[in-house]
Amino acid sequence: MRYLPITLAAIFMFSLASCDSVEELFAPVDPLIDREVVESQDFNLTTPFYGMQVAIDSGVDAGTERVLDLLDNRAEQFLNCQFGDSQIGFEDFLLDNDVLVPPLEDLRVYVVPNRFECEAVGREVCGGIYFSDIDAIVVSEGGFEGCGEFSVWKHELGHRYGMEADHSNQSDFNACINTDRCGFGDIFD
Ligand SMILES: [Zn+2]
Repeated sequence: MRYLPITLAAIFMFSLASCDSVEELFAPVDPLIDREVVESQDFNLTTPFYGMQVAIDSGVDAGTERVLDLLDNRAEQFLNCQFGDSQIGFEDFLLDNDVLVPPLEDLRVYVVPNRFECEAVGREVCGGIYFSDIDAIVVSEGGFEGCGEFSVWKHELGHRYGMEADHSNQSDFNACINTDRCGFGDIFD
């Protein structure tokens, strides 16, 4: 126990250095979500516009209809902003790197309440993640002070539409994936 004060001081300094809010450091982190966890979900919901397949975890506060509308609306905003055409979400779309992105109705979205442990490039805790091999996104409802709800959704869509997993080309997407009120640059996966 003699190291406790030092540990606490270190945590406090770390929080000052890396976060706008100390609260951020203590926001809950749920257990690992990997491909198997995603594939074991029952995607029995469908968004009304694009027809994305959705599973909503029981811990999510927002109502089902609100979640489904939000996923649709922000996907439409993202595609309009990034490519100037929201109809892309209904079609096979060829990226500049010759990757063919299927319509959004093929995408599975697992909506969870909190940040979670993850196996992402350079990160162990994620607010969202895109699994390109199974075309599935996990997105958390909250967990980031000042960022608003589901703030990582457009970021993960960015990954589906060509943003590299290591974020090396993120500058091509920044104008269309950031949520207005969110100031953190390093919280997304
Ligand atoms: Zn990312």
